[in-house]
Amino acid sequence: AGRVVDALAEPFQVGEVSIRTGASAGLALYPVNAEDSEFLFRGADLALHRAKQEGRRGIRVFDTELQSEVRRGAALEQELREALRKDEFVVFYQPQMDLASGKIRGYEALVRWERPDAGIVQPMEFIPVAESTGLIHEVGERVLQRACQDAATWLDGGTVAVNLSPAQIRAEGVVERIARILGETGLPPERLEIEVPESVLLGQAPDALANLDALKALGVRIAMDDFGTGYSSLAYLTRFPFDKIKIDRSFVAQLSEDAGVATIIASIIGLGRSLSVDITAEGVETQEQMTMLRAAGCRTVQGFLFGAPSREIKEPVAGSEEPVIQEG
Ligand code: C2E
Ligand code: CA
Ligand code: CA
Ligand code: CA
Repeated sequence: AGRVVDALAEPFQVGEVSIRTGASAGLALYPVNAEDSEFLFRGADLALHRAKQEGRRGIRVFDTELQSEVRRGAALEQELREALRKDEFVVFYQPQMDLASGKIRGYEALVRWERPDAGIVQPMEFIPVAESTGLIHEVGERVLQRACQDAATWLDGGTVAVNLSPAQIRAEGVVERIARILGETGLPPERLEIEVPESVLLGQAPDALANLDALKALGVRIAMDDFGTGYSSLAYLTRFPFDKIKIDRSFVAQLSEDAGVATIIASIIGLGRSLSVDITAEGVETQEQMTMLRAAGCRTVQGFLFGAPSREIKEPVAGSEEPVIQEG
């Protein structure tokens, strides 16, 4: 495999152009790693996946470390099925504040797994496995159900923002399921905002686009999550008319140290305004960040400064006359 990877790393000529390709390899050894072909292939596949994550042209062997990771993943999958059966997923809400009025204009719904013995498990510890096993569809539907049900009871309206994984957005029937949940809970479509990572539109992604279009036609709002990470490109805005861009917290975190970041954020906000796209900055933790964002023209903010995700919503949405800026 090493020779194959090296050979593919050599540039080759197509006419005048020199093209560089790269390959990664994953190895699983019979019978050390697995005794049947299915597990052998799964092991090699995981090793390959890891090799790609570790950088191009890498080789990774399915070693004991990866092996125990697989075992942990399989155990977690069983536990997640159990958790669905016992209805252990709960939804926390984090306020989104309007900077001009100081009022809460909605909440982001963030899933938690409440384990009877182990307490609250954060999404980063189970969403990846839910995604790789397909359980995300069922977990996600519970979250949507709960979030819409809760939001329908909030006085004076306000939006609830729900995160959807790329696989959920691509899934057949997702639009019908969301329409059904809206109907059953009585939540008006324009009070639901779906947050999708910009990577959902990578490649041509025709299913994702069609589903986003259909959701938008229903009246549901669509937000591009985590802008400023990964494949960030404002060109995505030409592929799909997002209602909102959420500036990632890693970006906001650099605001005070890096003048360049402040300039970029200001220009994203300016562009958003000219395209009528709302901008929300997330991960706002300090007064200084808030002041800079306000100066840059940002209207909506979210972060520990205004409130951490919590089980109960702290204030009714939009209606209260009191400003609700408080310690997070
Ligand atoms: P996200 O969508 O970017 O959500 C924002 C995350 O930032 C949340 O983490 C929130 O607790 C955290 N956060 C909020 N304010 C601050 C702050 O001021 N400082 C810092 N350092 N962090 C802040 P959380 O709840 O652990 O969620 C992590 C990720 O898990 C989410 O990132 C989202 O991608 C995913 N997730 C959460 N709930 C769901 C869900 O129901 N479905 C799916 N598919 N993914 C979900
Ligand atoms: Ca989000
Ligand atoms: Ca985000
Ligand atoms: Ca994030």
